[in-house]
Amino acid sequence: MSKLPHIGTSIFTVMSKMATDYQAINLSQGFPNFPIDVRMTEILARLAKTDIHQYAPMAGYPPLLEKIAQLTLDHYQRKVNPSTEILITAGATEAIFASIQAFVQPQDEVIILDPSYDCYEMPIILSNAKPIRIALKEDYSPNFEAISQHLSTKTRMLILNNPHNPSGKIWTENDFIQLEKIIENYPDLLILSDEVYEFITFENKHISINTREKLKDRSLIVSSFGKTLHLTGWKIGYLIAPENLLEEVKKVHQYLVFSVNSLAQASINEYLTVFDVNEVAQLYSEKRNFFKHLLKETAFDLLPCEGTYFQTASYQSISDEKDVDFTKRLVTEFGVSTIPLSVFYGDQTDLNRIRFCFAKNDELLLQAAERLLKIK
Ligand code: PMP
Ligand code: GLN
Repeated sequence: MSKLPHIGTSIFTVMSKMATDYQAINLSQGFPNFPIDVRMTEILARLAKTDIHQYAPMAGYPPLLEKIAQLTLDHYQRKVNPSTEILITAGATEAIFASIQAFVQPQDEVIILDPSYDCYEMPIILSNAKPIRIALKEDYSPNFEAISQHLSTKTRMLILNNPHNPSGKIWTENDFIQLEKIIENYPDLLILSDEVYEFITFENKHISINTREKLKDRSLIVSSFGKTLHLTGWKIGYLIAPENLLEEVKKVHQYLVFSVNSLAQASINEYLTVFDVNEVAQLYSEKRNFFKHLLKETAFDLLPCEGTYFQTASYQSISDEKDVDFTKRLVTEFGVSTIPLSVFYGDQTDLNRIRFCFAKNDELLLQAAERLLKIK
């Protein structure tokens, strides 16, 4: 008997496969199509000739732990101890899985805010706990009234994703103030803050939980070099948390993967001495503007995009098909693969919205726009 009867194949796999099968332009799964920085390929080639190839220490390659501590201090003025408060993981996905497994017990409740990224629910179910899926408002801001109504002593964890995939929404100062207020009386509630797009924000600044005095001691903060350094396939992420929390996550990490790819960690460590993470916001801000400009003449109604490399759009004026059917037709008839938003909801809410990934070179975005212009 399946332990996970409701878990199917990830939409990102499904739509990327469709893109390949139909030789469509893949704007579905979120990954850049441009080559990585030659400085990184040089670092990688040089380090490959050293003796870096054996197990890294369990919590991470020490110089990279130091770099992450420095990054956290520079960006958020938070001083974290690299030896006890940072864990390098096999992508953000492992950080999320290990955090949930470490803390969530059978019958606990975990709040997820829909639309939500797809790797939160499975580890909750695997813990025999209950995912409580609460919809964000229509503009994708958090609905604190609804969250408050579901809070109880059973709520072990609240997962938030900021900047938000798929909408690109960024939490405001006021959102954090409200969150701080409603969880005040629940001291055992932990926050799992998925901030993998922390450096990809545009007009509005990202507020990290690293800067929230009232939250950081009960928070596990997740990030990913996959997003920041255009290296999604390397699967190197990290977790920042107070020592007492991280100790528990390390127990899972130690027996899940033990440690993470040593060559990749050492290469990232060196690359961070020549690459300024602030550059990614500029790059993606230009791409967002370019893509928005290209799509202006199409029948899609573009929604705001404050961060991430995703642009959401409504196709209400084109069709009233269900979004899953619409995205399939986009691939088969028009040669563009995208992501339907309903799959990010527990109740399959269908708002006639889809997600485009614009982490692509200008040529591909242009080609995609030419095809999208034909849809009336
Ligand atoms: N969280 C969010 C919101 C994501 O979009 C992704 C990946 N696209 C992840 C987590 C997983 O990151 P990683 O590939 O580093 O595991
Ligand atoms: N996070 C990526 C996205 O949102 C997908 C990663 C994956 O395929 N697991 O497109």
